[in-house]
Amino acid sequence: MRTMSVSEKLAILADAAKYDASCASSGANQRDSRDGKGVGSAGGSGICHSYAPDGRCISLLKVLLTNSCIYDCHYCINRRSSNVRRAAFTPDEVIDLTLDFYKRNYIEGLFLSSGIIRTADHTMEQVVSVARRLREEHDFRGYIHLKTIPEASGELIEQAARYADRISINLELPTQVSLDKLAPEKNLGRTKQAMGRIRLKLEDAADRRKTGDRALRHATGQSTQVIVGADESTDADFLARADELYGSYKLKRVYYSAFSPIPEPSKILPLAAPPLVREHRLYQADWLLRHYGFGVGEILPVEAPNLDLNIDPKLSWALRNRQDFPMNVQTAPRERLLRVPGLGVKNVDRLLQIRRHTLVRLADLTRLRVSLKKVMPFLITADHFPSAGLLDGDRLIARLAPRPQQMELFAR
Ligand code: SF4
Repeated sequence: MRTMSVSEKLAILADAAKYDASCASSGANQRDSRDGKGVGSAGGSGICHSYAPDGRCISLLKVLLTNSCIYDCHYCINRRSSNVRRAAFTPDEVIDLTLDFYKRNYIEGLFLSSGIIRTADHTMEQVVSVARRLREEHDFRGYIHLKTIPEASGELIEQAARYADRISINLELPTQVSLDKLAPEKNLGRTKQAMGRIRLKLEDAADRRKTGDRALRHATGQSTQVIVGADESTDADFLARADELYGSYKLKRVYYSAFSPIPEPSKILPLAAPPLVREHRLYQADWLLRHYGFGVGEILPVEAPNLDLNIDPKLSWALRNRQDFPMNVQTAPRERLLRVPGLGVKNVDRLLQIRRHTLVRLADLTRLRVSLKKVMPFLITADHFPSAGLLDGDRLIARLAPRPQQMELFAR
């Protein structure tokens, strides 16, 4: 049989990796080679994070070690029952490609994942060996994100964290019921156990750094990806799981990836992708959980477990809780002002500063580039008191909802 060239393998294994969205590098520790030692940089002026229009990171060499897999996850093009062309890099080939692409300024780092070959441990050993040799043999200081396998041994996952800037384990689906249906070999409990172990290692490394071990090389965060729209899981299912992962496992990010139909799909998958706006609304709701003090039950009450696709989740909450408005910008506490549609964290903090010295007026909001159209029904300022009828009725929704737009001809 003809041996496949590295560029043929790259075409297959880069294409196979494109379905993974969990490769953002924000929040990573900054390594660099500005002292003249080593190659690569994960920080300073040497790196900029670029994203394709669909939100996928494009500044990293993003490949799989192999697209062969012994698992049979229905939503995955690399599942064992899929009729795709298979390829496998050797660790040496990935190392050479990474260094070569870096030196040509094509990439700032490496995102490496893999299908599971033979066993989870065997696969993780190969993945870890790429990162270890890049760091130890080539003094590579660029960004490395490794995808880990929950079934792999704790020792191997720990090694992955030692050499990578970011590690992730894809949860894929929010409940065991969904996993049983679409990814029968995957287990939610095992994944959470692995995340728990990683959390402890990350905290241990952070403590050691604080106590002076500044040269310590270690990942600074973990993330995960979930697939939205591949089954009936509701937005409440996704957000409740994300909330748990942020709280109990200290994940840096949960990435919501809209399911995209794959070639030769399994018969139990939906035929069409969910609207991309669903992914967008989940990111907005996730942001409210992490930065605005909202609870999942507030964003998605039991009777409405899916986000409104027409308006953003904060506005949706405000419209369900009109009794809380209008709010006085001069006296309302910070955590209440954060709930006003149209006010972001930075603007709320600036308003708190302004009101210490003077009365807040609409002109102050304009100076802060706050959308008056959006906040005026909800906010009282020194020169504005919304009329009683402004908060009532459907007219408010009509006034605040974005105008319908012509669909793009070639939208996903
Ligand atoms: S384990 Fe990963 S690569 Fe293998 S079938 Fe499942 S999602 Fe695909």
